[in-house]
Amino acid sequence: MPTPIAAFDRIGEENAFAVLARATELAAQGKSIINLGIGQPDFKTPDHIVEAAVKALRDGHHGYTPATGILPLREAIAADLLARTSVEPRADRIVVVPGGKVTMFMAILMMGEPGVDILYPDPGFPIYRSMIEFTGARPVPIPIREENDFAFSAEETLSLMSDRTRLVILNSPANPTGGVTPKAEIDALVAGLAAYPKAAILSDEIYGRILYGDAEHVSLLTYPEIADRLILLDGWSKTYAMTGWRLGYAVWPDGLFEAARKLAVNAWSCVNASAQHAGLAALTGPQDAVDDMVAAFDRRRSLVVDGLNRLPGVTCRTPNGAFYAFPNISGTGFKAKDLASRLLEGAGVALIGGPDFGILGEGYVRVSYAASEAEIEEALARIGRFLETETP
Ligand code: PLP
Repeated sequence: MPTPIAAFDRIGEENAFAVLARATELAAQGKSIINLGIGQPDFKTPDHIVEAAVKALRDGHHGYTPATGILPLREAIAADLLARTSVEPRADRIVVVPGGKVTMFMAILMMGEPGVDILYPDPGFPIYRSMIEFTGARPVPIPIREENDFAFSAEETLSLMSDRTRLVILNSPANPTGGVTPKAEIDALVAGLAAYPKAAILSDEIYGRILYGDAEHVSLLTYPEIADRLILLDGWSKTYAMTGWRLGYAVWPDGLFEAARKLAVNAWSCVNASAQHAGLAALTGPQDAVDDMVAAFDRRRSLVVDGLNRLPGVTCRTPNGAFYAFPNISGTGFKAKDLASRLLEGAGVALIGGPDFGILGEGYVRVSYAASEAEIEEALARIGRFLETETP
């Protein structure tokens, strides 16, 4: 029987998909399931975006496109970044990819090998560590701490760096915590990076437009001193409710762009042409659907945070971005993954145990509030009943 190379013994996955599969299975058996597990907006892709894709197909855009994406789309991305960050990247350094996740796959594959270190947030998006392990590089977790409001610390991050550090992965606003790292911290980190000129930076800014209150998104693109080693990851999935379209992009630095382009040619040739036209309509069309979605998330955020803080043994910080709350459940006496699986099987509420996002996730669960207010209220009531009646 053929078997894959040994590196596949080290590759991980994303438990949110396993939870989604189990939740779907339970729902198919007739159980009432509220899904606060999966990280995708519950809104529809705005109509004008869908229409642009349909029109593209009708207009005959059914062939291959340039591997890095159609030029109008790359120009629109550059213009959108200029409007949002005041820095305009070169359109010919942008690579459109089938989903934001693909950029992390590419960057980690490009930089990871035995003998080097790659830093990544813990708790953080599980694919970072999975891919680092796959390449044989040493995964070095950057602790993301509750007492720091789930922002990363420049000092702690820099203390983990050395001449072996080949790549540093940053994510703000963050999954799974909703943490947003303030500008002062990013300034300090960038200043410290001068001591490690060989280290590339992958800044995952996919939640950059989902912010609340006074929170400010500071793009790493705004630091010219690291422009020659910054890989900026962004995409449409979260901002425009387009997770299933599989569309993302990255801005690559000069020295890595050719490698990224060749990887694209080798792996997927180009992204689905109609999806690229949809992405163009999303960036150049009206943005009110994005604003409405963020306003709805904001209302749900209050509901979730207030509700969680009323539960016995649970405390929850107010997240500043993304659509996740990361409550501390250590006071319940339950282990996080045990609580998540018992809530799904026994109470019909899907959420994700913190350890699925890293070692430091123990004692927490991730609650995605990409669900209706009625569903959130019902889920909180079910969790409350569960905690009052069940024991670890
Ligand atoms: N980066 C982070 C932090 C995410 O949470 C996700 C999706 O959950 C992605 C990237 C990937 O997004 P996409 O669905 O566009 O691949």
